[in-house]
Amino acid sequence: MRLPKLKKLVEVMQIRRVKVFVHWSVLLIGAIILLGAVEDAPLAFTVLGAYYGVILLHECGHMVAAQRKGCAVWSIELYPVWGITCFSQPYSRYDQCIIAWGGVVAQALVAVPLLVWVELFGYTRFQAVNAILAIFGFLSLSSIVFNLLPIRPLDGAIAWGLLPALFKRSTTHPAKREPGWRSQR
Ligand SMILES: [Zn+2]
Repeated sequence: MRLPKLKKLVEVMQIRRVKVFVHWSVLLIGAIILLGAVEDAPLAFTVLGAYYGVILLHECGHMVAAQRKGCAVWSIELYPVWGITCFSQPYSRYDQCIIAWGGVVAQALVAVPLLVWVELFGYTRFQAVNAILAIFGFLSLSSIVFNLLPIRPLDGAIAWGLLPALFKRSTTHPAKREPGWRSQR
């Protein structure tokens, strides 16, 4: 007898015709946290949502950059601490660097205005709003800094190649497109 194959990834939505999958552990962790936070379930739900919102925002940044660079984007997968965007091989090393920057740039576009807001006006009376401000602002900013460390598999390992790639782009012929898929965390 064959056991039914367990699905490790659950499709949760589509963004710009790209399927977004969530790993089962994300759903399990979410369920456990919500069960443990019966007293303030709405706040726990907001914190969880905002946390995965930051990861999704980051991956959407890669997705938009990849689509703009003419890559086919296959999927976005969300895991407990990171996400993965799968897309076709970029045209050049320069394009690959731009796609690597996409994630942190998307985060920064949201984080910087929020941090300015908090700096100018402070936090609000509403805990849930404050949680969103803190997660999309401060937590997201620290994850940007971490992500830009030049260590694999972090984005920084590819992103900082932008300057040499820029220089190379102007001096050599465009690179040949190689077949196959790439993924960016
Ligand atoms: Zn990334």
